[in-house]
Amino acid sequence: MIKDRLTVIREDIKRFSPYPDRVRIVAVSKKQSIEKMRSAVEAGITDLGENRIQDALDKFSVEPFEGIARHFIGYLQSNKANKCLQNFNWLHSLQTEKLAKLIADSDSRIKCLIEVNISGETNKSGLLPDQLSTFLNKVREFHGLEVCGLMGMAAFTEDEAEIRRSFALLRSLAEEYKVLETAHFKMDELSMGMTHDYRIALEEGATFLRIGTGIFGPRSY
Ligand SMILES: *Cc1c(COP(=O)(O)O)cnc(C)c1O
Repeated sequence: MIKDRLTVIREDIKRFSPYPDRVRIVAVSKKQSIEKMRSAVEAGITDLGENRIQDALDKFSVEPFEGIARHFIGYLQSNKANKCLQNFNWLHSLQTEKLAKLIADSDSRIKCLIEVNISGETNKSGLLPDQLSTFLNKVREFHGLEVCGLMGMAAFTEDEAEIRRSFALLRSLAEEYKVLETAHFKMDELSMGMTHDYRIALEEGATFLRIGTGIFGPRSY
């Protein structure tokens, strides 16, 4: 089942992305069993995404999934930050200067994406587009911090045009801030698109899809 779902997603990547070779699937395994995670890895998944540190570390202590990149995609509380830096390869939700500084001053080589609120919904996390310039100009000076691009979530809606506008906004922000690039500050990656909207995200230039239920089926706890 997982294998078949991945086959469909891989075909969609070829069909909808302007640059299929750059697209990676982050299999979002939050609230999914280790058995299902193993099936996904057997089916070729190389990236796993989790949104709660303790749940993730409980699973990784049983099955470390050697060689598989670990992505932290949830909101990161400061008291969990060090655990995240020590155990994950990617952080998709960087949005505070305090955390950026902590990462810069640590030994961690975690790759970061800056989370942007592209839906315009006030209850959503991420920096507002008009806060981005100040933030990026600040953190690009932090040596020891590796920024690779932006992450965003569209509103949960049936309105395709609205979803597309959100993803196009993230892409245009990444293009706008490409002028700020340095050796350790890049705008290469766009983490956008989940189970219900990843095809639109692909058309709009996503490089990381974060797909959970569309790979694993319903979450179990
Ligand atoms: C849960 C989650 C996903 C995956 O959602 P699905 O609808 O299961 O594909 C993607 N991104 C974030 C930030 C999430 O929390």
